[in-house]
Amino acid sequence: MAILVTGGAGYIGSHVVDSLINDGYEVIVFDNLQAGHRQAVHAQAAFVLGNLLNKADVAALFAAYPQIDGIMHFASRILVGESMQIPFVYFHDNVMALLNLLEIATQHHVKRFILSSTANLFDKPNVIPIREDEPLIPGSVYGETKFFAERILHWMDTIYGLKYCFLRYFNACGAHENGHIGEDHDPETHLIPLTLQVALGKREHISIFGTDYDTPDGTCIRDYVHVLDLARAHILALEALQDGQSRVYNLGSGTGYSVLEVIEAARAVTGHPIPAVVGARRAGDLPVLVADSTRIKRELGWQPRYDSLRVMVETAWRWHKAHPDGFAD
Ligand code: UDP
Repeated sequence: MAILVTGGAGYIGSHVVDSLINDGYEVIVFDNLQAGHRQAVHAQAAFVLGNLLNKADVAALFAAYPQIDGIMHFASRILVGESMQIPFVYFHDNVMALLNLLEIATQHHVKRFILSSTANLFDKPNVIPIREDEPLIPGSVYGETKFFAERILHWMDTIYGLKYCFLRYFNACGAHENGHIGEDHDPETHLIPLTLQVALGKREHISIFGTDYDTPDGTCIRDYVHVLDLARAHILALEALQDGQSRVYNLGSGTGYSVLEVIEAARAVTGHPIPAVVGARRAGDLPVLVADSTRIKRELGWQPRYDSLRVMVETAWRWHKAHPDGFAD
């Protein structure tokens, strides 16, 4: 079985590629290396440099690898804040890339598609932890592009029988336990890598975006889920689609941690005092985002293995310490 992984040189994609190869899959990575890193791609994966916005690139990809019969689509712009500053770019890039990919994939009769979706679809949850059947209210232009993506795939299923699985990630974090791949974003905006950059001496302090939320310590609570647990979920989802049923899952480890708890865990793991400075709230942040992942556990037997905050931070720290400049090292 040959799996196309778009964005396979990125953070989550590269970990999934690693797991796919270890499970014996043939993997073709397609990436424009705008945000991804060539060195992050497993040596046994085929690598194609190309742009989903260029339909000819996508057609050439499928001509070269006609055996592709499943797709995991990670390639996307991913920053909530940025999407509110350059909305046209986000709508254009995320939606056009998907349409080009689907147009060629359906011509080649691909039948299975895993979409990287997001917790940013749940801007006004009625019940926390958040289940799949909460109303879909995107919290940003980024979230809206994923909402469009889910709707487009709904029609691809109806019209072409393309079975999909939407995986709505909460806060992906951590790194491969071997320390050879990990998170390397430019610019970095996520809490755990930024906190660890303080321990590395690359930043003076971590800013805490608000301490006046309605939570026990006043800081935002998030559901951090390890990237290798996400990788396992992708492979289970791909295999499950063999039964011809499309599906959707919320993916978190089910426990919420506050910003202060994350910083404290980083202090414990690194032994560094990690100075923190209280700043203003960040626009668009919800006080609490925690997933109810009961459905994927029940239906696919998924079980997060790296679900302690300490292990998440430890694996991230191993990566950042060994690669302070990311893949440039
Ligand atoms: N956060 C923070 N300081 C930072 C970066 C993030 O206090 O420098 C907070 C942010 O407001 C949110 C949590 O940490 O409550 C997780 O943010 P991140 O950007 O990692 O992920 P998000 O929840 O936005 O997907």
